[in-house]
Amino acid sequence: MNQQRKPISSKKVIASIVVVSALAGTGYEVNRLSADPVGEKDCPPLFAENAASDTSEINVEIAPLSAGDLLKWKQKGGTINDVSCLDHTFVYGIVKITSVDDIKNALQFARENKLKVSMAGVRHSMGGQAFYKNNLVLDMKGFNKIQLNEAEKTITVQSGATWHDIQSFLHPKHAVKAMQSTDIFSVGGSISVNAHGMDHLAGSVGSSIRSMRVMLADGSILNVNREENPELFSLVVGGYGLFGVILDVDLEIVNNDIYQTERQLVRYKEFPEIFESEILLTRTLVCSTGIFPRRRGRCSMR
Ligand SMILES: Cc1cc2nc3c(=O)[nH]c(=O)nc-3n(C[C@H](O)[C@H](O)[C@H](O)COP(=O)(O)OP(=O)(O)OC[C@H]3O[C@@H](n4cnc5c(N)ncnc54)[C@H](O)[C@@H]3O)c2cc1C
Repeated sequence: MNQQRKPISSKKVIASIVVVSALAGTGYEVNRLSADPVGEKDCPPLFAENAASDTSEINVEIAPLSAGDLLKWKQKGGTINDVSCLDHTFVYGIVKITSVDDIKNALQFARENKLKVSMAGVRHSMGGQAFYKNNLVLDMKGFNKIQLNEAEKTITVQSGATWHDIQSFLHPKHAVKAMQSTDIFSVGGSISVNAHGMDHLAGSVGSSIRSMRVMLADGSILNVNREENPELFSLVVGGYGLFGVILDVDLEIVNNDIYQTERQLVRYKEFPEIFESEILLTRTLVCSTGIFPRRRGRCSMR
């Protein structure tokens, strides 16, 4: 008997090709994601004991460019990431900043080469919004000098300093007035998101700023505060670095009083009343020198 084979329909051929390609693609991706790393991680370790030294440099050859010779390159080419390790972004390069001139030169280099610029403190803002593809990154961590103005009860601090640097500098007499719930962040990164801490009476970081110096994209430097350039002040505080580079800041400081924590369970409906009567105004604090009535968030003898 002569059995005639049915011709394979073109639909079946196409469907088979699609399935095989999809399987091959998935296999490749699974293999890629589960493979051993091929180089150094481009994001910081979560725990200090795992931290490799920060001296490793990635060198990718790029065409030599004029003002680039003046810059301290931490990395040319390569990638940057934030603390989440999920925002791997290719960059033109990363420049180490230790002086105002470094920032000026970096901005000039960026203008000459039509590059976008972003600043990086300790890179704890996650989501990728702090980076831009192929941009020039200013690593601000080395720009961290602090000066105490005791008579004014302020400090002048460069924007790469962390709150930890500042607390160590101020201890034991003074303390930071407003910062996040931990001290790991940079001053520039904190102002750029107008961070808040746990003390509702201290307000956000922006409320403790007396004045700032900001470098604009053209390299000019402006004093920025509530009287001088007030519009720029309100844009830079919470402005995610989009309006200029924060150079240094005059920040209000407070006495290093010791707070005593306490907790009580309350019915949520009663909380507004308790907040008004007990927490906001009349609560007493144990200060380093005794028990005094609390006035607008500070231990005070008056
Ligand atoms: C574990 C954890 C706890 C947190 N707790 C709090 C909290 O209690 N309260 C709160 O409000 N937030 C909190 N945050 C959010 C945190 O305050 C922000 O992510 C903050 O921006 C981190 O500072 P950074 O130095 O890492 O900034 P980065 O992530 O390095 O930078 C943040 C932004 O600031 C800009 N920037 C940095 N330096 C400058 C500069 N010199 N001039 C201009 N722009 C600059 C950058 O371009 C970027 O857009 C927390 C985040 C984490 C991960």
